[in-house]
Amino acid sequence: MSQVKGLCVMDVDGTLILEEVIDLLGREAGCEEEISQITSQAMRGELDFESSLSKRVSLLEGLPISVFDKVFNSIHLSPNAQKFISIIQKNGIQVGLVSGGFTSIVERMAKSLGIAYFSANQLEVKDGLLTGKLIGQIINPENKKRYSRTMEKGTATS
Ligand SMILES: [Mg+2]
Repeated sequence: MSQVKGLCVMDVDGTLILEEVIDLLGREAGCEEEISQITSQAMRGELDFESSLSKRVSLLEGLPISVFDKVFNSIHLSPNAQKFISIIQKNGIQVGLVSGGFTSIVERMAKSLGIAYFSANQLEVKDGLLTGKLIGQIINPENKKRYSRTMEKGTATS
């Protein structure tokens, strides 16, 4: 690769991809409606991001991790996203993903697009099933910027 000249950090859900992964997971868990109601509450400012995220994630309890194969395969990249990424990479710009979504999808997405850096939220898994909880620090809209800076220093991932 040519010399690195910069870094382009992207959001994932509704930006790099057309879908919101939490909605797709909700569909698999049979609680799509409930999840979209919580999302709407958060959008109206009645619920902060972290509460709304943990509420929605709790509804995913019991989903088998095989669900990520199905969800990953049903995702659509935004028009020209792949082209855009390969053009900027060819021009020496590194790409990173910072997502309030989930590592189980974002990591695969990064690998499939040759993206070096990513940060996302991690769903807890026990015995092959989602526990409905998150592990580690939550990536929310406020700290996305901080994660982007970490990538800039080249110390990122997950
Ligand atoms: Mg988004």
